[in-house]
Amino acid sequence: MIAERVAERIVTGQKIHMPAGFRASEAGHLCARYHYHARVDWGARPTPDTTLAHIFRLGQAIEEYVVRLLQDAGIQVVKAQVAAYERASDIVGHVDGFAVVDGEEIPIEIKSVSDWTWRELNSFEDILGSQKPYVLRWGAQLPLYLYLHGHERGLWLLLNKQTGQLTEIEVKLEQAWPLLERVDAVLRVARDAITRGVPPDPQPDSVAFCAGCWCRQVGLCPGAAPSDASASKIASDPEIAEAAATVAELRDAARRYESAQKRLKEALAQLQLTAGQRVDLLLGTVPVRVSAYETTRYDVPDDIRRQYATRVVQQRVEVL
Ligand code: SF4
Repeated sequence: MIAERVAERIVTGQKIHMPAGFRASEAGHLCARYHYHARVDWGARPTPDTTLAHIFRLGQAIEEYVVRLLQDAGIQVVKAQVAAYERASDIVGHVDGFAVVDGEEIPIEIKSVSDWTWRELNSFEDILGSQKPYVLRWGAQLPLYLYLHGHERGLWLLLNKQTGQLTEIEVKLEQAWPLLERVDAVLRVARDAITRGVPPDPQPDSVAFCAGCWCRQVGLCPGAAPSDASASKIASDPEIAEAAATVAELRDAARRYESAQKRLKEALAQLQLTAGQRVDLLLGTVPVRVSAYETTRYDVPDDIRRQYATRVVQQRVEVL
């Protein structure tokens, strides 16, 4: 009864507005076709479903909470959600605010993330190397605010939704410049396509952008086609589709598992054992065994190793 009324309120509060330009928050979605549809077909954009609407609402509440945390620590946040627009690039954005630290106003972007993502992201390079489309979009978002507001550095404040801890990642405008140049090139293609009235080919910078893209969801875009005919055949196999659905369902849990397992292994690798020694221990309900054994290592000098070197083709499959 209560939950239903709350859900109804949250879902009906979601509205799609006509964009006043290319949104800085989405500019890092490196696909010209996406930006074409986001401007031309914005009316076809679906409102967030119930789950997403709740996630957005929680994100808003966490943003307010983080601002209060800063204020409790004596750091004022000014010019919250102030708008900026640049006519030449036609980019519009609303920064979360400016934290006033020792008299300096620093643009901030507040993000709430899972424990796994919180541990994974420690630098601007980590953000750029992420396979998550929403994290990739952050990479351009804050630097664009720096550019639009004429500031040299900014901070992402990441709140761990599991532990409540806060961490910060600094980015300098000069550091992000190569990315902003790529963004500029993508938006230029989108602008030309809007003028011509013809959508660009579906050629995103990474197929990761197609996952969850609303343009594909509503049938405006088929998504990036596989660049190889035999790959297309594999992609249309129902058993492969079922395996992919399982990966999508369990991916986050598997990544959390891998991250936790890595931490356990790193901690236990600090034990100094002698060859043949074995230690068994129980960590909660998880049995662990650490053992030391001898193997033979061949220390071959580089000049001799090089004599036996040959080039071979290897294949790597990455599930992004
Ligand atoms: S589905 Fe892929 S190619 Fe199509 S608009 Fe979205 S990101 Fe671009």
